[in-house]
Amino acid sequence: MRASLLESAAQDAKDQLRRLPSVDRVLKTPRILSLIQTHGRSFVTDEVRALLLDWREAQLIGKPQHPADEAAIEVALCARIEARLAPALRPVFNLTGTVLHTNLGRALLPDEAVVAVARAMRSPTNLEFDLDDGERGDRDALVEKLLCELTGAQAATVVNNNASAVLLTIAALAARREVIVSRGELVEIGGSFRMPDVMKSAGAKMIEIGTTNRTHARDYADAVSARTALIVKVHTSNYVVKGFTAVVGESELARIAHRAHLPFAVDLGSGSLVDLAAYGLPHEPMPQEMLSRGADIVTFSGDKLLGGPQAGLIVGNREWIGKIKKHPLKRALRVSKLTLAALEATLALYRHPERLAMRLPTLRLLTRPVEEIDALAARVLPALSRALWEWAGVTRGALKSQIGSGSLPIDVLPSAGLFIRCRTGRKGSGRQLEGLAAALRALPVPVIGRIKDGALILDLRTLEDETAFVAQLGSLKLPATYS
Ligand SMILES: *Cc1c(COP(=O)(O)O)cnc(C)c1O
Repeated sequence: MRASLLESAAQDAKDQLRRLPSVDRVLKTPRILSLIQTHGRSFVTDEVRALLLDWREAQLIGKPQHPADEAAIEVALCARIEARLAPALRPVFNLTGTVLHTNLGRALLPDEAVVAVARAMRSPTNLEFDLDDGERGDRDALVEKLLCELTGAQAATVVNNNASAVLLTIAALAARREVIVSRGELVEIGGSFRMPDVMKSAGAKMIEIGTTNRTHARDYADAVSARTALIVKVHTSNYVVKGFTAVVGESELARIAHRAHLPFAVDLGSGSLVDLAAYGLPHEPMPQEMLSRGADIVTFSGDKLLGGPQAGLIVGNREWIGKIKKHPLKRALRVSKLTLAALEATLALYRHPERLAMRLPTLRLLTRPVEEIDALAARVLPALSRALWEWAGVTRGALKSQIGSGSLPIDVLPSAGLFIRCRTGRKGSGRQLEGLAAALRALPVPVIGRIKDGALILDLRTLEDETAFVAQLGSLKLPATYS
């Protein structure tokens, strides 16, 4: 009895296999021929072959998932090709509550930058060509004047990101010599950027002074020797040391450095070009403040508070910047015309600070009034509730957004958003929330929230395209129901 059941199952599988059409036959069906027109014969042939192979395997292990007729093959093939052709880098909804989210690409660029980049991509440009004398030019010159105008620096240069800016500064000014830095500032920035490692890679010897919580002027002065090349101050952008603390201000550090004829560099990390307090936000150190206090070099990121493209900006004293520009690493770390186009257009917006909060997306999102965010939450809530039906309940509530990317670690912005909680009891609700989070990530424009205290939280400070968000909720595929 048992043996004959097995036999008949095996016979079924064989029948199924026989029913699978050949690659050649599939390639001759009309719909597939039109796919070949669009995507090319070799690509479509490979996909047909792979699909039939998958189905054959599924049948051999006794799990045939589809009736293997022509229509089913067409549908599956179209889905497969669509998935294969989807770009790997895709837009998402960042509803994490972190405005400058490093893993989600940090700053959103202003339209002016988008236009400038598109123009620079389509056409030859005067990237390194001096239009006045027809000679070879310097690509930094394209943004140097603007950077100097905005920060009060004598000179400026641009590299790939702020990590490069720090690396290059140390390599150019302190290779084979010593760099003095406070123990309280040996920061690690996400993604394994650690100050001690950077110093080592740049070929400098790091001289740590002071203690984690307290460093005094005499610690710096005592560490200066004939081997010293540079004093560095790192803005501890992603943490704060509280309590019994002491740090030495920039003005005093500049005095100590200059007395020994040494340059003084500040790694600012985020660095805002405008006083954020004027926009109702917590004040963040500005490059111009550092320079006016005597810093010779200031490094900061292009895609943090500045709100532009990924870049590392180095501004400061003409002599030291000149040295930095001549270092061979500068060539290795230089930026493309696309970055320069975006950066110039972004920087230009700073000439009109009154309109900045409207035109610079980063500042626009950071200064968004909580009432506006809350009203948005109220409008979006019904659609989300409907999409989740009996699966989960949605409520609206107050939240605290973070600026992110290491700026202002303790300062949070009052915000509002939606809390999704599963309807079942405690048991397994964590797993269900994970499933729900995965379903939101599987939407055409993935929605990224965060899970905290038994809720999936969507902070709406950063939701600007409300229509697109609501429109795609209809295609939300909820996880299989739980028992
Ligand atoms: C963010 C940051 C960096 C790294 O900047 P990237 O632009 O991400 O390379 C370095 N130093 C500090 C203090 C930072 O905050």
